[in-house]
Order: sequence, then structure tokens, then C-alpha cells
Amino acid sequence: MLEGTIIKGIGGFYYVDTENGLYECRARGIFRKQKITPLVGDRVSISVVDEETKKGVVENIEKRDTELVRPPIANVNKALIVFAIKNPKPHLSLLDRFIVLAEKENLEIVIILTKADLDDENTLDEIKGIYELSGYKVISVSNKTKLNIDKVKDELKGNIVVFAGPSGVGKSSLLNEIDSKFELQTGEVSDKIKRGKHTTRHAELLKLECGAMVADTPGFSSLTLDSISENELKEYFIEFEEFDNCRFGFKCIHENEPSCSVKEAVENGEISKQRYESYIQLLNEIRQGKRRY
Ligand code: GDP
Ligand code: ZN
Repeated sequence: MLEGTIIKGIGGFYYVDTENGLYECRARGIFRKQKITPLVGDRVSISVVDEETKKGVVENIEKRDTELVRPPIANVNKALIVFAIKNPKPHLSLLDRFIVLAEKENLEIVIILTKADLDDENTLDEIKGIYELSGYKVISVSNKTKLNIDKVKDELKGNIVVFAGPSGVGKSSLLNEIDSKFELQTGEVSDKIKRGKHTTRHAELLKLECGAMVADTPGFSSLTLDSISENELKEYFIEFEEFDNCRFGFKCIHENEPSCSVKEAVENGEISKQRYESYIQLLNEIRQGKRRY
């Protein structure tokens, strides 16, 4: 038996990356009976049927650590959330929405601020400040001047990574800088075409020289919070956690309750006002069951 990771699945064939190379595999019939569908990202054991033509059979699937729906990939452990500091103008409540969705999936989060070369009003430092205060790692990047591309590469090593973020922020450009494997088109392709292409294509993991695996499609294309309950949302604003002395304890939703330590922390600047306002906005959206994205 040989261990590996499924990096691609097409028409009942699974392509498994192993230390002996790539094998084209069928899955054992037993999986279908158990209603288990092998997923890109699955860690599997395979038996080799033919070494010459690199054919095999998936015998075992390891328990998944995480399972994303968009893109449908197992065992992603890190999300690089990419926003530009300008062009398009960064909407921080949208960034917070990406963060909430990634936190819900239990992913490690790194925030990448692109187009640093366009910074002329200290926007970069301002945004960086907000998210570092919240406890996130923030890397400023320029695909134009190559600023900190190496730092982004360091974040990839040894991980299964999904890039996420709105269109036009420079995700494709960044991937191109990281590895020539990403021959993604930048700029010219309209968002509509890009989206259309992504929905019809199968998700795939691309293996980089450094050993990292990166999803070829951006994460969280659906940004609804439908699956998140009112009480749950606060868990995904990780900076609230250390302020847990609210009078109503864990029942406090940090909104109108008296003696709320989260609100106190916002007042004295220990929690960013911007982030707190996003929280209230998303909370109201969940209450109204509104689908804005
Ligand atoms: P995506 O939709 O997130 O994949 O964004 P693209 O990579 O397609 O980039 C959108 C546009 O922004 C393109 O015209 C890029 O040339 C431009 N762009 C990307 N990164 C940078 C950057 O770091 N600085 C500047 N000035 N422009 C960038
Ligand atoms: Zn509270």
C-alpha cells in the first residue's frame, strides 16, 4: 500500500500524488455502498495495479480534518484571504465575512493586503492595525514590486491552502508570482466568465515546488451566512474570546446587554470599533435571514 493525496478527480478517476509519483486510481466499490465519495484533498492509501502505467485503486480514506464545500476539497488547513488596499476599494465588512466563513471551517487565517504599491493614504497601516489587533497575521504584498512574495511562500509550505477574496484584488497575479504552474489569466477575463468557468470545472489541488498544495479555485464563492446561528457568530470574532466576563456570561451576545466586557473593550480600544460594527451588521443580517451575497 502506498499513501498519498487525491489532487484531482474526473469521471470516477482519482489522481493520487504519492512519493512514487502520480497514480490514476479507481475507488473500491465499498465506498459507494458506504455513500462515501472520495474528495480532492483526501489522504488515501492505494494499492498499485500497474506500476508501468501508474494505475491503482483507492483502498482507504483517512478521516477528514476539514471539508470545504466551495471549492469541494478536504483537509484544507489554511486560508489566505486576499484584499487590495485600493482598486477595488476594500470593504472591511466583506473581509470580516470571509474571515467568519474561514473561522467556521476551522482554517488558519492569514490576511494578505495586495497592491501595497498603490498606498498613498496610509490605508495599508490602518487596515493592518485593525486585523493585527484582532490577532491575525497580516502580510502586505505588491505583485508589481514583488514586495513580500517570499513571505507568502513561507505561509504555504507544508499546508493545503485555499486563496479567498473578491475579484480584482490580485489573487491570480499573486499565484502567478508564487509559482509558474498557475497560468491563470489576470485582468482581461471578465468576472462573469471567470465565475462560469469555475462552476463548471472540478476543483483541483496544485502541488508547488515547496510541497504545498493550493486549490486552483478561490474559496467561499458563496458568502451567505445562512448556516451560522445568531449565538454562534461571536465565536468567529476571535478577539472577543478573551473578554468573557460579561454579566450574562456565555449567553451574552455583546449587543444591548448591561455590563458587557466586549462592549467595554470596544470603548477603551482593546477591540477595534470597525470589527465590532461588522459583527453587529452580520448579526442583524443573520437575524433577518437576508441573502446579500
Ligand atoms: P483576481 O481577480 O483577484 O485574480 O485579480 P487579478 O490577479 O486578475 O488582478 C486584477 C488587476 O489588478 C489586474 O489588472 C492586475 O494587473 C492588477 N494587480 C494585481 N496585483 C497588483 C498589485 O500588487 N499592484 C498593482 N498596482 N496592481 C495589481
Ligand atoms: Zn457581552
